[in-house]
Formats: sequence, C-alpha cells, structure tokens
Amino acid sequence: MYIDAAHWLHPAEHIPSPFHNQRDDPADISLLVVHNISLPPNQFGGPYIEQLFTGKLDPNVHPYFAEIHHLQVSSHLLIRRDGEVIQFVPFDKRAWHAGVSEFEGRDKCNDYSIGIELEGTDFHQFTDEQYLKLTQITQLLTKHYPAITFDRITGHQFIAPGRKTDPGVCFDWFRYFSQLK
Ligand SMILES: [Zn+2]
Repeated sequence: MYIDAAHWLHPAEHIPSPFHNQRDDPADISLLVVHNISLPPNQFGGPYIEQLFTGKLDPNVHPYFAEIHHLQVSSHLLIRRDGEVIQFVPFDKRAWHAGVSEFEGRDKCNDYSIGIELEGTDFHQFTDEQYLKLTQITQLLTKHYPAITFDRITGHQFIAPGRKTDPGVCFDWFRYFSQLK
C-alpha cells in the first residue's frame, strides 16, 4: 500500500468528489477523524454513499435521500464492510466531512484533517476487514503525514459533541489502538 505524489492511496478505487477545496496550508495535515455512514441508514452494500459524496444521489430512491441529496459532503476515504477502500479526495485537499468541529481548542477540523468513513452505524459491530484496513491505512498515513501522531486520531463524535455520534459506541478504540502500536 502506498500514497502517490498526487496524494492518492493505492490500491484503492478512486471516485473523485467535487466536494472539496484547497487547504489554507496544504502542508498542515495533522488530524485523523474516524466516522461511520450507511445509506439508507442501517443498510450496507449499495452504491449510495459514493453517490452522495459525488452529488449523484437520487432523491426518489428512498425518503431519506430526499432529505440529504442536496448536501455537499465528502470524505477522503470510505472503508466498506468487506474492507474495500474508495478514495474521493486526495489527502492534500480539504474534504468536507467534519462540519462545525473543534479539536483541542482549534476549530474547523476539515482544514487540517483526513476523514475516513467506515461503512456502518453507531449500533453495529464493525468488521475484522475494516479494522485491518483502517489499521494499515492509519500506519501509512502517520508515516506519510507525520504531524498525524497517535494522539491526534479522533472520532467525529468527539470533535462535534452534541451534534454527531459517529463512529459510536460499537467502534472499538482499544482494539484499533492496540493494533496500531
Ligand atoms: Zn461523521
């Protein structure tokens, strides 16, 4: 596994999202944010997450999609239940995953973070394949972007408390950090 000069991960499927922009300081990549997402909620395996992240979600397919199809959101990576990885935004660009957020007193976490979505919910265990791939990717990212130290890895729920709950109580931080070290 490696990261190329244009900040794309290999091997991974690359589905470029329009929902990104330049970081104020492209060299400031100093936080990793773990999320979960499923579309429709609590269903796995469809094409809908990548459709949302590329502005192509059909509002007529599901009532929930009518509420969210207009959102301009993305992440750098999605790790599916089977461990398949999709990248939407190169790591040196600002993906729109965190929204209003704050880490250790600094707001606008999108400016300086990498966002990784795990296909899942707050109430389902994540898969062995997801922990393995997340661990491998985290080890690579912390080498490639050394400002992402192990104490600068967090969850969406912790940088947007009261507003976000992912990755949720089913995400096993102890297992993740144990595998990392
Ligand atoms: Zn999130």
